[in-house]
Amino acid sequence: MTAYPYEVHNFDVVVVGAGGAGLRATLGMAEQGLRTACITKVFPTRSHTVAAQGGIAASLGNMGPDNWQWHMYDTVKGSDWLGDMDAMEYLAREAPKAVYELEHYGVPFSRTEEGKIYQRPFGGHTTEFGEGPPVQRTCAAADRTGHAILHTLYGQSLKQKAEFYIEYFAIDLIITDGACTGVVAWKLDDGTIHVFNAKMTVLATGGYGRAYFSATSAHTCTGDGGGMVARAGLPLQDMEFVQFHPTGIYGAGCLITEGARGEGGYLTNSEGERFMERYAPTYKDLASRDVVSRCMTIEIREGRGVGEHKDHIYLHLNHLPPETLAERLPGISESARIFAGVDVTKEPIPVIPTVHYNMGGIPTNYMGEVLNPTPDDPDRVFPGLMAVGEAGCASVHGANRLGSNSLIDLVVFGRAAAIRAGEVVNPKEPPREVNKSEVDRILDRFDRLRHANGTVPTAELRLEMQRTMQNDAAVFRSSKTLAEGVEKMTAVAAKLDDLKVTDRSLIWNSDLMETLELTNLMPNALATIVSAEARHESRGAHAHEDYPERDDVNWRKHTLAWVEGNKVRLDYRPVHTEPLTPPEKGGIDPKKVAPKARVY
Ligand SMILES: Cc1cc2nc3c(=O)[nH]c(=O)nc-3n(C[C@H](O)[C@H](O)[C@H](O)COP(=O)(O)OP(=O)(O)OC[C@H]3O[C@@H](n4cnc5c(N)ncnc54)[C@H](O)[C@@H]3O)c2cc1C
Repeated sequence: MTAYPYEVHNFDVVVVGAGGAGLRATLGMAEQGLRTACITKVFPTRSHTVAAQGGIAASLGNMGPDNWQWHMYDTVKGSDWLGDMDAMEYLAREAPKAVYELEHYGVPFSRTEEGKIYQRPFGGHTTEFGEGPPVQRTCAAADRTGHAILHTLYGQSLKQKAEFYIEYFAIDLIITDGACTGVVAWKLDDGTIHVFNAKMTVLATGGYGRAYFSATSAHTCTGDGGGMVARAGLPLQDMEFVQFHPTGIYGAGCLITEGARGEGGYLTNSEGERFMERYAPTYKDLASRDVVSRCMTIEIREGRGVGEHKDHIYLHLNHLPPETLAERLPGISESARIFAGVDVTKEPIPVIPTVHYNMGGIPTNYMGEVLNPTPDDPDRVFPGLMAVGEAGCASVHGANRLGSNSLIDLVVFGRAAAIRAGEVVNPKEPPREVNKSEVDRILDRFDRLRHANGTVPTAELRLEMQRTMQNDAAVFRSSKTLAEGVEKMTAVAAKLDDLKVTDRSLIWNSDLMETLELTNLMPNALATIVSAEARHESRGAHAHEDYPERDDVNWRKHTLAWVEGNKVRLDYRPVHTEPLTPPEKGGIDPKKVAPKARVY
């Protein structure tokens, strides 16, 4: 019996996370008449989605010809042929609907002269199945698109009477007879424990950028969903694919949106050369993110970096009219002033590739249902559990995500999860009995961490993990750095058993919360580096110096990683190569999306 009393809340659905994905799912579930709780460790509008600047991709065709088939093709190519075709088709096809829905919910998009939603160019988005010129597909609300979406979705969720549990920290999933039956959470401001007993649990906990030393993501992006899933004995998928954004502000790590290059910004090296023209003659500064990040890294390595240590690159916006900067990029003008002391109308911004997005995550099908694959059934569903947003891996981004394809992923799959839950959750069914022994087990672990009295403080171990990941699972990887990295990370993870927590209280105990977060970051980090070491090819964001080519024969498959303590077991599952709609019904011809050589 646990020493912690707890309150039980019965719901049809509990959504963990109130970012774009969590709120879109919450809103959709509530709209369908399901009793829905949304629990979040930060106030909803402080979720990392609020920081999304550039925009949300959908083939509205407001600024020139476009269609969902072209968007799907670009997503497939961007994924370097690792994404699942059914999910990628669903994303591109449903995107315009999802954006118009946002517009009707009240998102204040920027407008064209005729009053249509304004769309800007973004890297990798093209026309004519990659044969035509770049397209303006990214819908924007100035450079504060995520902010606008998040505030609108929160208001709409409240209107639908979803119940919010704010500043509740989800500790672990309750697993009963091979299904998820809810979560246990700790209320941060009064220390009470709450059991959410639910027919469906949705993880929308965001990415794990904070496993690295320099990341554009918020400090709250600690992969809690992935940690919970790993502890439940379920695998994580494609964790080796970590996106580095080319333009994090040097030193601070804050993001300068790709929209800055979309509006005409360009990069230069120490010789003042626009070097992207040399590497990617067609798309130049708007080549996909992995390409630009790698080219910048090569320039720096070959001695053409800028600054005293020749260790970064310049991003120029100073040739653009000040009115354009004020109207289209006000947020980043402010970030550049605050974090780099730069007036963007006069000087270039110092930038460096910085960890930005996790393509990998909790494997799901295109309806958001979590998978528990076996060799015989690689698409087996784990009942009662869904994952959406950056925490999930549907997989639409495959080995690399195109800019502005995450915000659309949040709303398309948040919505898809709600539609699916409407089919599989029966609101009339009485709640199950709470699985008390499972709750006890979860609270025992919580109690052990609360009283942890070893020798390593949480902050020290976190830093050790972050530095190891930054050095050994970086933009360029080699067999040597990865093997060393796996060895170091295995040793770092073992130190979780020797943690020291100083604050024993239950009220606003940030020491304990950061410890719980570290126990979540660690399995994500371990899975990342072990999966990366095993993948002997280069694909998307995984650039392996000893295996520089993509190898479709041996490696066009998803990595699955089961993490237990500091050990990782790997297996693989096939990529879905069939689109959902056959060509005779308007779908894309499968030949169009068959793997091709990389041309930039
Ligand atoms: C600076 C920046 C700019 C970006 N710009 C763009 C862009 O322009 N276009 C684009 O498409 N993508 C962009 N991205 C990517 C995109 O914004 C993110 O991938 C996306 O917002 C993630 O949304 P999410 O809903 O999955 O998670 P988040 O928004 O990160 O939300 C996670 C939620 O989970 C909750 N949570 C987590 N753990 C727990 C727990 N243990 N208990 C309770 N609650 C928990 C948090 O409180 C939070 O509410 C950007 C990312 C960054 C970092």
